[in-house]
Amino acid sequence: MTDINRRTFLRTTGGVAALGATIGFPTLALGAVRRVVVIGGGAGGATAAKYLRKLDSNISVTLIEAKPNYTSCFMSNEVLSGERTLDSITFGYDGLRRHGVEVVIDRAVGIDPVKKRVQTAGGNGFDYDACVVSPGIGFKWEAIEGYNEQVSKETIPHAWYAGPQTELLRRQIQAMPEGGRVIVVAPPNPFKCPPGPYERASQIAMYCKHHNPKAKVIILDPKFAFSKKGLYTEGWTKLYGYGTDNSMIEWIGGHEGGTVEGVDPATLTLQTEFEEVQGDVINIIPAQKAGAIAFAADLVDGDWCPVDKQTFESKRHKDIYVLGDASSAAKMPKSAYAANSQAKVAVAAIVARFQGMEPGDPTFVNTCYSVVGEDFGISVAAVYGLDAKNNMIMPIKGAGGLSPANASPEIRQREVSYAHSWFKNVINDMLE
Ligand SMILES: Cc1cc2nc3c(=O)[nH]c(=O)nc-3n(C[C@H](O)[C@H](O)[C@H](O)COP(=O)(O)OP(=O)(O)OC[C@H]3O[C@@H](n4cnc5c(N)ncnc54)[C@H](O)[C@@H]3O)c2cc1C
Repeated sequence: MTDINRRTFLRTTGGVAALGATIGFPTLALGAVRRVVVIGGGAGGATAAKYLRKLDSNISVTLIEAKPNYTSCFMSNEVLSGERTLDSITFGYDGLRRHGVEVVIDRAVGIDPVKKRVQTAGGNGFDYDACVVSPGIGFKWEAIEGYNEQVSKETIPHAWYAGPQTELLRRQIQAMPEGGRVIVVAPPNPFKCPPGPYERASQIAMYCKHHNPKAKVIILDPKFAFSKKGLYTEGWTKLYGYGTDNSMIEWIGGHEGGTVEGVDPATLTLQTEFEEVQGDVINIIPAQKAGAIAFAADLVDGDWCPVDKQTFESKRHKDIYVLGDASSAAKMPKSAYAANSQAKVAVAAIVARFQGMEPGDPTFVNTCYSVVGEDFGISVAAVYGLDAKNNMIMPIKGAGGLSPANASPEIRQREVSYAHSWFKNVINDMLE
């Protein structure tokens, strides 16, 4: 295996220029082999494992992942409309194995930051010089009375991890009576994929438009606004009659009583602040927090893991780096592309540290595409720099922005193609 050359790495990170400049290439294998243990083989963890090996093939990298395959949440809303299958968003870890990553299918249950050892449910221990933690989110089940994990598996799926619940929700939508009502309960901030609930409502409406045209999708939302609201509203107006009496989509925000307080799974009835609302299909996306291992390993402050945003090293324990959804990485959103970008910054910082060098100033990138309907895509993009004084990741003015309002059909169609090619590229960058 050859080490990635410096210029290629800088290009793929989207510009960790100062960081790259501090790293000497190629690496000289001096002293003991360094060990990195990565927990979680999703957008952040898989990228970190792969790029550690690419940047320095002398580093021993072990990925501990609970599941044998990764089913991406990104693009999983398209499974609901029938645009794609769950198989098309499910991938194995052989690509990482080919990079020399040792992939262990097991669940990490604890990290000893003093002994520098990760413990797994399978009873094994893995020593590390640096540990990367990217476990994604967990749910705050207590936020809505009557909702719990069992209910989510049987009756009211969250489908906020793609998998069996995505298929359950799809079957429920297909089996809905003519003119039925799907209720999507959106979560409070912060949560993974800020535009995701609204893309989901759009994809369900897209299915219903063809198969159940009198059906309605109602979004109950505790928030007063949401990501790309203007562009969604434009798409919903053009495609689903939004704003008319016959609109297929209705959004009820926090100011209109959209906060859901309880649910009766037996009658599919939601209790909002003001009234009871009944649905034929209900999708509750619960309030969120960092994944369980972040709590077990004492990496959280409140719901999320504070990190030094120059390196993504935990503010609570040295030599542990927390990436992706679990980290507190304002002002980056919790997205796959953000996790992918953060992973490269953390990897560069880890390798620099192994070589006795200081990390430089990182830049980050994120684009979130949403497919609102057939041939109707929208996006938001940003490049971010570090505000070291305030430990904040700030969007760089003039780099990025929203896709244009009232764009031509060609532009909207192109955004759908871009969304699909972004998906292929990011999966490739993580896992191949
Ligand atoms: C419907 C939907 C649509 C989305 N669309 C987009 C999009 O278009 N663009 C975008 O950029 N993002 C999108 N996202 C967000 C994206 O999926 C997440 O932000 C991203 O996956 C976060 O990466 P991560 O590494 O933090 O966690 P994940 O990708 O969730 O990976 C976490 C991994 O860790 C494993 N794990 C957890 N705990 C343990 C443990 N203790 N031991 C071992 N393994 C463990 C899990 O099994 C999982 O494989 C979407 C999300 C949803 C729900």
